[in-house]
Amino acid sequence: MDVVLHSCCGPCLLEPLDALRADGHNITVVYANPNIHPVAEYLRRRDVLLGYAGDAGVEVIEAPYDPVAWLEATAGLWRSPADRCRECWRVRLELAARAAQDRGADAIATTLTVSPYQDAASLDAVAREVAGRHGLAYVGRDFRDRYQEAVRRSKALGMYRQNYCGCLLSEVEAARARAARKAR
Ligand code: SF4
Repeated sequence: MDVVLHSCCGPCLLEPLDALRADGHNITVVYANPNIHPVAEYLRRRDVLLGYAGDAGVEVIEAPYDPVAWLEATAGLWRSPADRCRECWRVRLELAARAAQDRGADAIATTLTVSPYQDAASLDAVAREVAGRHGLAYVGRDFRDRYQEAVRRSKALGMYRQNYCGCLLSEVEAARARAARKAR
């Protein structure tokens, strides 16, 4: 199938790209991440992704960076990480689905499922709903068993590896969690 693979960053692209290609899919990557704050971080992650994609011979589409639209979509949900993340995934996968439709692709997929920090069942439900609404299939591979290999490879490649998910709130939450671990 022709699959548009939503990708959040270079390290998370490594394993899903290999796995989907090994399954015989033709992959185009879409960098669709208006959640990422600040813009310098957005650009840094994008450039790491582009560097690897060039080496791997995969085309990358960059979706419009519209943090205002992301803030509007998640407004009122900021104190509830589960609800906030669901809406965040929806915004990003919508952008991926639109890119897939523009290209006449068959399906979308996402590298978010490589992260053990995401709620895989909720993410799967959101992705299927978005894909279905656009008349696309969702290649719902769970890549979490490849997370450690993704970490190993990204370190070996000297890739920048961020220490928070992406939004301003996740940066604060991650910093608090690190401080709490240190204080133990
Ligand atoms: S924690 Fe991550 S998935 Fe959740 S809203 Fe923030 S950027 Fe999006």
